Amino acid sequence: MTQHVPTTFHDLVLPEQLKLARSGTAYFAQRLVALSAADLAAPSALPDWTRKHVVAHVCYNADGLSRLLDWARTGVETPMYPSIEARATQISEGVATLDNVALRSLFNRSAADLDEHWRALTPTTWAAEIRNMRGAALPASATVWMRAKEVWIHAVDLGTGATFDDFPTPILESILTDVVDSWRGNDAASDVTIAVDGRETLAVQPNSTPMHTVRGSLAAVAQWAAGRGADLLASDAPAPPAWY
Ligand code: ZN
Repeated sequence: MTQHVPTTFHDLVLPEQLKLARSGTAYFAQRLVALSAADLAAPSALPDWTRKHVVAHVCYNADGLSRLLDWARTGVETPMYPSIEARATQISEGVATLDNVALRSLFNRSAADLDEHWRALTPTTWAAEIRNMRGAALPASATVWMRAKEVWIHAVDLGTGATFDDFPTPILESILTDVVDSWRGNDAASDVTIAVDGRETLAVQPNSTPMHTVRGSLAAVAQWAAGRGADLLASDAPAPPAWY
């Protein structure tokens, strides 16, 4: 078998990355416009969250990323969120106080604002250092992937038929890479070997003796690994460990 060299999100040039973040926003927005008030109040695919929680979270995520870009542009430290608790409180207050019209306009406003913030960057400020919620130092350009994975994955979490099968390949590649890196960092999933169709198998923990082979298309394996269901897989699979 020839060695497969995947094209990840990070292999793409910035304009292509921005295109995939924007197409993810559009993908999410298409699902959002189709939801009635009753649909929005119904449970999402995420535990304890209604669809409205998911939408509010995606809106505040855009605002949080815009704050990071203000930081990159001005050098004045403005974290994505003041704290994890503040982020959770903002979501529950948004769900309690925003009616559906307000929620939809918040979605459009926050996504447009983020786009404005991206457009205002120069080559220097694209490279300026910000920190994510875990305190890791990153260039401002990392916000594009931070946004892209949010909008694509949370579209599936709306639970209205979106699936990883719809995702562009570089998005799938980088989601799977992020999950496996996270598991490797936590010594998790040592019982699992990943077998993406047409590729060499990959033990999550290289020095382990895995008991389960999780087999399927790239979309199927990425969806399972991200904790979004095993229904696309060609094999049985254990419950995937959490990732960050
Ligand atoms: Zn999220």
